[in-house]
Amino acid sequence: MWNKFMNLGASMKFFTQSMLGTSSPSPLVQYSMLIDTTKCTGCRICDVACKLENELPAEERPSGIETRPIIPGLTSTSFTIVKSVPGAKGPVFIKLQCNQCEDPACASVCPAKSAITKEYEGGSVTAIDITKCFGCKYCIVACPFHIPQRDPEGKTATKCTFCESRLARGLKPACYEACPMGAIKFGDKEKIRDFAIERAKEIDGYIYGLKEADGSNILTILPTQPGELGLPEVDEKSYTSFATLRSILVERSGIIIFILASVAFVLLIMLMLGVMK
Ligand code: SF4
Ligand code: SF4
Ligand code: SF4
Repeated sequence: MWNKFMNLGASMKFFTQSMLGTSSPSPLVQYSMLIDTTKCTGCRICDVACKLENELPAEERPSGIETRPIIPGLTSTSFTIVKSVPGAKGPVFIKLQCNQCEDPACASVCPAKSAITKEYEGGSVTAIDITKCFGCKYCIVACPFHIPQRDPEGKTATKCTFCESRLARGLKPACYEACPMGAIKFGDKEKIRDFAIERAKEIDGYIYGLKEADGSNILTILPTQPGELGLPEVDEKSYTSFATLRSILVERSGIIIFILASVAFVLLIMLMLGVMK
């Protein structure tokens, strides 16, 4: 079944690969992905492909058209999800995943050394190393797209890896390979960007991710404004500012108080030992 999906998707990509420069991923090239909601049929094969690639368990998905805000929707075991939301001309299928930001807010606030890094020469992948993450949730609070999720078992944050391990092996992301509709494109960042701009013009639509949060490597073509479809309305400014950090400290004040109390306790013990000498 899986091979069938991959073969079907791969054959449809044969014609677009040379155009988008996607022959063989290399660590020296910066990659982007384009998700064209006007071509997506909501089949969710990409979702299945992601789960198989990342060995994640199956989960129940809501059926029918969403009437509630589409965020949140991801879970610690769903790195991508396809939501159907009502649009002016019928349902719009929106594939959510980490946007692989240019200037990732998640990485800027992570207190664990090298737990979130931008990989590849061009920095197209923002990856969480779960062996270094200790589950403080700072990245979860900082991400303006509400992407990282906390794994209730392992106490770490998780998200789409942009199929980093596949890229390292010269392969392309599993969700891209599996899509039978050509709704996902993957390749050289500049070419994907130009393609997205052309496509948005063609349908008189919008690109989500081009300017939001200072730009990202996942561009989503929408037939209508992001806010009308329930996507988070994200400013064009970088979210790695002091204001973001401050909001995290306020929201996560429990941890800060705990750390301060721990430091105070250690100092007290040291003081007492000094007095007793
Ligand atoms: S979308 Fe969120 S989790 Fe993904 S890179 Fe940007 S800030 Fe980090
Ligand atoms: S790029 Fe890889 S990890 Fe990310 S949603 Fe697609 S299949 Fe999943
Ligand atoms: S596989 Fe392609 S058409 Fe199917 S839900 Fe995913 S993006 Fe949409």
